Amino acid sequence: MFDSPQPARPGTLHIVATPIGNLRDLSLHALDVLRTADLVAAEDTRTSQALLAAWGIQARLTALHEHNEVSGAARLVEELRAGRSVAYISDAGTPGISDPGARLVAAVRAAGLPVSPIPGASAVAAALSVAGLEGPWLFVGFLPAKPAARRKALADLAALPFALVFYESPHRIEECVADLAAELGPARAILFARELSKRFEQVHRCPLGEAAAWLAEDDNHRRGEFVLVLDPPPPVAEDGLGEARRVLETLLEELPVKQAAHLAARLTGARKNALYDLALAMKKGN
Ligand code: SAM
Repeated sequence: MFDSPQPARPGTLHIVATPIGNLRDLSLHALDVLRTADLVAAEDTRTSQALLAAWGIQARLTALHEHNEVSGAARLVEELRAGRSVAYISDAGTPGISDPGARLVAAVRAAGLPVSPIPGASAVAAALSVAGLEGPWLFVGFLPAKPAARRKALADLAALPFALVFYESPHRIEECVADLAAELGPARAILFARELSKRFEQVHRCPLGEAAAWLAEDDNHRRGEFVLVLDPPPPVAEDGLGEARRVLETLLEELPVKQAAHLAARLTGARKNALYDLALAMKKGN
């Protein structure tokens, strides 16, 4: 444990987490490093300049974003080789988490130089900290923007025995939630973690079947930045199909095999192929 200021180390790349809302999300350790680094590389120098100015930090800034990350990384490796200390910050939160940073880290590592994390805010961790989940979770980040690709991604994720965590922007929140309800079923719970650490922070949990109505009831519910946390699917029985078997039985009374399997998969999150095989077996009276 260190309790004295920890300046940036020579020849080391520091990956520094910055605020996701409140400027005071920045840690004392991050302040130490940003104040003393020879060079601060930033996803957007104007955004970061505002943060640094708010904390009275004068830094030598350089831009490193997704469009110049490879060439920029080569430049920074040279700075590190020359013994200079470098800090990398993205626009908000932790670099490398749905943000640039991974390719820079890989390049510095490949050059045999040290990389040190300066931990702090990340929207995924903040949302999980108020989700009240005990089990494992899978961080997906942003879903594909195109509807067909998004639904395919969700269909692949639906039956995994984990809570799922997504990032989403206000532009796509409604279509994303509609697809979540269609692919994961209306019973699964969703937690909206909106504008965390900001003035209009809001955390709301409801079944997916009620999520569209919640978004529609107030314009503010659709504004700002979102983390979406989905409960894991309900536990399955020995044959892995559990509740889905009962749902399928009922649907088969009214629908052909393919439709019943498809609908049961959407309602329960169980795998469509497994339900199709089960439905065929049920029809044959097995
Ligand atoms: N690197 C960042 C991190 O560690 O959280 C994430 C950057 S990603 C480009 C931006 C997305 O993160 C937003 O679209 C939103 O989904 C989520 N996000 C960032 N800040 C947030 C906040 N204050 N509240 C809720 N979600 C946030």
